[in-house]
Amino acid sequence: MRTLVKLVGCALALTPLIGNSADFVVVHAGKLMSIPGESVKSKQSIVIRDGKITDVKSGYISASSLNITKDDTIKIHDLKNKFVLPGLIDGHVHITDELDNKHKIRRVEFSDPDTALFGANNAKHTLDAGFTTVRDLGGRGGDSVFALRDAIAKNYIPGPRIYAAGFVISPTGGHGQRHGYRQEVFEVVNHSGVCDGVADCRRVVRDQVRRGADQIKFVATGGVTSETAAGTGQQFFDDEIKAIVDTAHALGRKVAAHAHNADGLNAALRAGVDSIEHGTFSDKESLRLFKKTGAYLVPTLLAGATVTEIAMSENSYYPSAVKAKAIKVGPKLIETLRVAHDNGIKIAFGTDSGVSKHGLNAREFELLVQAGLTPTEAIQTATVYGADNLGKSDVLGSIEAGKYADIVAVDGDPTKDIKELMDIDFVMKEGAVYKQ
Ligand SMILES: [Zn+2]
Repeated sequence: MRTLVKLVGCALALTPLIGNSADFVVVHAGKLMSIPGESVKSKQSIVIRDGKITDVKSGYISASSLNITKDDTIKIHDLKNKFVLPGLIDGHVHITDELDNKHKIRRVEFSDPDTALFGANNAKHTLDAGFTTVRDLGGRGGDSVFALRDAIAKNYIPGPRIYAAGFVISPTGGHGQRHGYRQEVFEVVNHSGVCDGVADCRRVVRDQVRRGADQIKFVATGGVTSETAAGTGQQFFDDEIKAIVDTAHALGRKVAAHAHNADGLNAALRAGVDSIEHGTFSDKESLRLFKKTGAYLVPTLLAGATVTEIAMSENSYYPSAVKAKAIKVGPKLIETLRVAHDNGIKIAFGTDSGVSKHGLNAREFELLVQAGLTPTEAIQTATVYGADNLGKSDVLGSIEAGKYADIVAVDGDPTKDIKELMDIDFVMKEGAVYKQ
């Protein structure tokens, strides 16, 4: 029996174009954190078939112990010297965008295909960093983010699994719209996620879903990086927020609300949003509402650290309106998270990458630990809780039978030193290896 089994080499298979897989894949894990928060086990075997985990067994199992036929191929990955954990989930990225001193002109120069391919490069960096799933909360360049999501799903290009919101839904002049361009240029860079009034906001949500949105993202308050001195208070009225949330839920989509100040943040929670992004100036009422509704807080500490760094730097490219907001919001995020964590609010990992550079997502872990989470709790936000925030706990977030074979590995023990996650040595997505 054993002699009939074809062992696959490390070379890339012709189909799919990227990653390498086999009928049966086995991972031998020296240390395995299969369900973050539960005990780490030694000497484990993960059995994978058709991209999904079929079994996790104690000890290092051999090819002959599997129920295979003569035509089956098998690939065994030796991670006996590694610490193995589930693929990481970043719940807040902008994969088709990256803010730097050229992003404004890029929006004018790039065609939509340019934007999609720019996103493909960002996606590769993100996957290499160990993030096998991302939630994109605001794309640009027409349908670029949907094309990118679908191309990755079809294995045309490497990248994390993407759940895409499409355009950020924003009121006219709000944080999600473009600022700082002359009118004729603005017509070119503007997008169709802008609405005012209840009926219009219902229409825009429906239109995002028609275009292919997996979830809905809207701006409940002003934001830091928009080039307008409009502060960070509530931007949509309560009835508009309610219309957005109700319409999205009626169409089976979760809703993420960008929110800094408590007024818009609490209005969003009252309307029943599923997650609050940033949550900077949460107050007592916010904490009460978080608990009541079970909404997640996605703290995006890396975005706070990044905007503060850029605003304070000598040659900052931020215009004064952005600088003023960055200095107010950036340092507050970590303080807010500390209080939220102390109060038992549900936290999901999100970096707002695109504000920071793609591929540095794991920097968020260190900041979460600085805010008072244990390393294991920080890992939970990017695995089990990240999956729950997406509504995908059935297939993501842990290494268990029935879930996608999304697996990463590092040299040391990240529960002792969270910085280990900055240096991911092995990345598998749906049973195919992208980095080793
Ligand atoms: Zn964002």
